[in-house]
Amino acid sequence: MLACVTTGLLGWGIGESHWPWYIQAIALAFLMPLGLGCVLVGIDRELLKPMRRLSEHARRLHEGDNTHLMMTTYLTERRDEVGELARQFQHLVEDLKSHNAQLLEQSLIDPLTGLGNRRMLEYRLDVALPLTRRLASTVSVLMMDVDHFKLYNDHYGHPAGDQCLVQIAEVLRDTFRRGTDIAVRLGGEEFLVLLIDTPSPEAWRLADAMRGMIQAMGIPHAYSPSAEVVTVSVGVITSPPGVSADIDRMVACADEALYACKAQGRNTTQARMLSPPSEVLEPHT
Ligand code: GH3
Ligand code: MG
Ligand code: MG
Repeated sequence: MLACVTTGLLGWGIGESHWPWYIQAIALAFLMPLGLGCVLVGIDRELLKPMRRLSEHARRLHEGDNTHLMMTTYLTERRDEVGELARQFQHLVEDLKSHNAQLLEQSLIDPLTGLGNRRMLEYRLDVALPLTRRLASTVSVLMMDVDHFKLYNDHYGHPAGDQCLVQIAEVLRDTFRRGTDIAVRLGGEEFLVLLIDTPSPEAWRLADAMRGMIQAMGIPHAYSPSAEVVTVSVGVITSPPGVSADIDRMVACADEALYACKAQGRNTTQARMLSPPSEVLEPHT
């Protein structure tokens, strides 16, 4: 702009012949580059710098996959085309963020019961276990399996079996309400609950209350050799405070307790402590 003004002024000056020619030549020689410099600085400030900031933002999103990164208001509040581009870019990132959150949720949730699935368990354990080690808190694993469920399906049909699993999941949700409780459907008619900082007697009490509530729902199971209604068996294992919880070992031990329940006739809860040798604390029939 300055260059235009300069040229205009000098042009007027040349036209009117107010200035000697050599003054005009010197003025042109100094003012033209100055004007050009001003134009370039303006382009850099108004166009290139915001584009660099936008590109830097995109690079940081890409490298860190840091989708919660907010774009600076320096870009989004601009009234020009760059601001429009920045706002559209931000909308796109927000759409992708919510789409990713939906996909993540779908991949972690069991579609039948709405409980978490095995992946959700791994996902939550990644956060929960280091915390329990640090706080030296107990960890309890409850393994639950529906009794004679094959016979239930055979007699009432698969859709009724599905409905039965949905009702059982409801009881799990009602029983384990703490934010740190993790209740998942492992697959088929097997469920797992992980309780943090819950002493063994309390873990057993909760597990047995859940077993009792499922029985009390009174879902008829005419073909069950062990009860007239749908029942479950639950194996509970608790790691003592300060003992690093090896989750695979705990699941294996909870499974052992569960199979002991099955061997005892089902509709039972057994709790054990995770210390070799495993000791049966409170068998209950
Ligand atoms: P037990 O008391 O020893 O556990 O006997 P069970 O019949 O429950 O055990 P088994 O493992 O033999 O049978 C499990 C049955 O669970 C087999 C299958 O028909 C049923 N099942 C697994 N997944 C689903 C599902 O998603 N929906 C329905 N309706 N049934 C399922
Ligand atoms: Mg099973
Ligand atoms: Mg079963």
